[in-house]
Parts: sequence; structure tokens; C-alpha cells
Amino acid sequence: MTMTRDEIKTLLDSQEIEFRRVAIDAVVMSFPIYADLFFSAFQKDDAFAVQMADAARQWMPVLRDGYDESVIPFDGSVQYTSFGTMAASYSVFLQEMHNYLAGLDKPTAQKTINTLWHHFPGLRIDLKGKTVNPKPEEHRQLMVFVTGNCNLHCPYCFSKELKRASISKTDMTRVLSWAQRQHVQSLLPCGGEPLLYENMDWLIREVEQRGMKMYFATNLSVPLPQIIMNGDTDCIEQLHVHLTNELFHNERLMSTFLNNLRLCRENGIDIILRGNIFGDDTEEHYNEWFRIAKAHGINALNVAFTIPSHTGSNSFVHIEAIQAMIPRLKRILEQGREDNIRVSLAKPLPLCVFPEDLATDILLHDMNAAFCNVYEDEGMHNLSLSTDLRFSPCLGVDEPSVPFADDLNWENLRSIFGPAVHEMQSRPLLDRCSNCFLYDRRLCQGSCLSYKQDSRKGGVRCAD
Ligand code: SF4
Ligand code: SF4
Repeated sequence: MTMTRDEIKTLLDSQEIEFRRVAIDAVVMSFPIYADLFFSAFQKDDAFAVQMADAARQWMPVLRDGYDESVIPFDGSVQYTSFGTMAASYSVFLQEMHNYLAGLDKPTAQKTINTLWHHFPGLRIDLKGKTVNPKPEEHRQLMVFVTGNCNLHCPYCFSKELKRASISKTDMTRVLSWAQRQHVQSLLPCGGEPLLYENMDWLIREVEQRGMKMYFATNLSVPLPQIIMNGDTDCIEQLHVHLTNELFHNERLMSTFLNNLRLCRENGIDIILRGNIFGDDTEEHYNEWFRIAKAHGINALNVAFTIPSHTGSNSFVHIEAIQAMIPRLKRILEQGREDNIRVSLAKPLPLCVFPEDLATDILLHDMNAAFCNVYEDEGMHNLSLSTDLRFSPCLGVDEPSVPFADDLNWENLRSIFGPAVHEMQSRPLLDRCSNCFLYDRRLCQGSCLSYKQDSRKGGVRCAD
């Protein structure tokens, strides 16, 4: 049923949230006609603005956060050869926004701008100069490669390249004291298989006593540390549990895995499953991923195409090979929808390899495929420390690299890693990025930075 403008206005003024929803959907779906009603929502009460903002973000992914605000402002002069439909509708949106703001008195315009700034990070570059930029709250975390040991050594993993078997208790104590002085809130042990770190019970207790939290990735197919088994700690917030192929070929491993999974669930640890797509995975494996998720009441699955290690000697998916693997990804996304399990993509992918409708769907459903959070906290969000005690911006990027020192501080590292991460993230992955709307809006970083580092990783192509 088509509503008249007056009917829509009446419903927008209603106190009934459901009535408002119907009117909001009508406004968003016919945006150019009702642009004034859309923008006036951001002068009303907070609940109304939130409702309109939610609907708008579902409709137009570019209103969401991009990874960087220093982009070339959209001016319509560039001929976008990809994602043209999105570029065209965004151009209309911006035009309407500027027209609307120009017709308001100064205080009302300022209030509207502030509210739009708050609700739509993707608009901030277009509103710049019209409002202040509030500094986002920082969450400091540190990933520490505690051991290179693993019971599996999957072909796509980085563990074979780690320089030392593991970090001694003495060194780890120095690292923990440093982290505490730098106000690190979360510690992420990494490997290898972190559960095989010989000091894991001690490490968990230390992290807890120092007031930090922990989360980490594990294959969960080795005996659990006592402290986890006994449910004797609440500092582990989350586990990212890797569904390795070996599990499906080895009954003993699978039985340990399932038992551990059950114990962790019983002890209230939040679990996200992780599946890797790299070539040897099959349809039967995907069925197993979902079967395990459903059997254990887990509703989140992260999926990644495996990335190149620092030397590129692992088994990883080349940029050119991604397209051929899209049917696998589609199959997983469909299964996730059927089973009501949220599937996210763990690493950024070049969205132009997907058909445009799938790329838009990925953006709309916030699947994290377009960019990663390595840029947050000025390049420090995924700070990593290797087994030979060298800092780098994240596990996929080993340069720049800074040796650990007790008197080094967070700001020293930030001044080195911030510009380096920014440069890598802004660097186009492919020649065609310069004509791509998503690149212009910084809605696609192209790929995990491990592909962009340099050409040591044979076969990684950074121009099309
Ligand atoms: S660049 Fe670093 S943080 Fe981003 S996806 Fe790659 S490994 Fe992860
Ligand atoms: S920014 Fe580059 S990699 Fe991303 S979709 Fe556009 S052309 Fe592809």
C-alpha cells in the first residue's frame, strides 16, 4: 500500500515504535522524495534518530564507518567504473543533505550536523569543518606469540616461521609488567598453539592478577590447562576456535576437541568458531562446521581465506585465486542464514572480485570483509610481539619491527606504526582501485595488509 506524504508524517509523529518503523521504511526506500523528512528526524528525540539511523545504515553501507577519514572528498568528477550504482545514490544523498542543511538556521543546522556525525561515521569527511571530531575511546590490547609449538602445524599457519620455541617466564614477566605500565587491557596469547605454552596456567593467573583480560585463538585439540578445566578463572573472555581439517580425519583429536569445547561452554567462555578456506577444505567440512556450531549452541562463525606469512612460504590463497573460491564462500553464507549462525569474514577481501550484489550484501551485513581494524588507535590496535620479542603492527605485518625494551612506551611505538599502517592501508591493491567508489570512500582496503607488505610473497599481484 502506498502512503501519502501526510500519512507518512502522521506515522512519523506517532509514539508507537512499530508505526514509526513503517513510516521510516517508506522514507528510506524513497529517499529523494522524502529527504527533508529523513534529515528532520535528526532534530527529534534520540530514540527517533536512532531508529532512522538504523534503517538508513541498512539501506546504504557507505554511511557506516570507513577505516580512515583523510579521504579525497566525493565530488562526482571521478568516473567510477565499479560500484557505480552505489556511487550514484550516494551522490544524490550528499546533494540532498547539503541542500537541507543550507535551508536551516544556524543552531538547528549545527544540531543536525552533530547528530549526523554521531550516527554516520561514513559521513564525517563530508561534514568535516562543520563540527568537532571527538576522539574515540582507546582499547589497548597486545598479542604475544608465546610459543611456536603446535600439535598440528597446519600448512597455512605462520608458526613454522617463529624464531624461538617459546617465551621464557622471565621474559614474559617483563612483557606483562610493560603491558601493565602501558595500560593494556587485553592480552592475546598466540602461537603456534597457545594452549601448548608450558607456562599457560601461570600466564592466565598472572594476567588475571594484573587486572587484564584475555582472549585467543586455539585449535582446542590438546589438553586444557588446569585453570580452564576447573573453571577457575574468569579472565578469559572469548576463544576463537579453529576448525582444522585434521579434526575431521582423526577421531582422537575430534574427541579431545569436542570435550574441550563442551567444558569451555560449561565454564561460560564465549566461543567463536573459525573456518579457513584455502583449497583442501570441502563441502563435507563445511557441513561439519555447522553441525558442531549447532550442537554446542554457538552462533558465530568467522571465515577467512588464508593469508601469506611473512616469507610467503605457507599455503595461502593468492589474490587471483579468490574469485574461483567465491562459490564456496556463498555456500557457507547461505548455510549460515539457514542455520541462524552469523558468518563474518575474518580478513579483508577485494570486494570487486564478488558480484556487485554480493559485495553490497557483505557491506550491508557488516561482515567485516572490506577492512580490518588494524588502523584503530593510530595503528596500535593489533600490536603484536613475536617469540624473539619484536613488536610489529599485527600478526600479518612484520615491518616495521621494533625490539622490545622495558623503557619503550606506547607513544614511541604509535609514532612508528601509525604512519606505516596508514600508508599500507591507503595503498591501492589493484590499478583499478583509483576508479573505485569503495576505495574513494575508504570502504575497501583491498586485502589483508600481508598481501601488500612487499613482493617477497611470490605470486602476490598488486596491480591488475
Ligand atoms: S592486516 Fe593485520 S589485522 Fe588486518 S586482517 Fe591482516 S593480519 Fe589481520
Ligand atoms: S577498492 Fe580496489 S580492491 Fe576494493 S573493491 Fe575497489 S577496486 Fe576492488
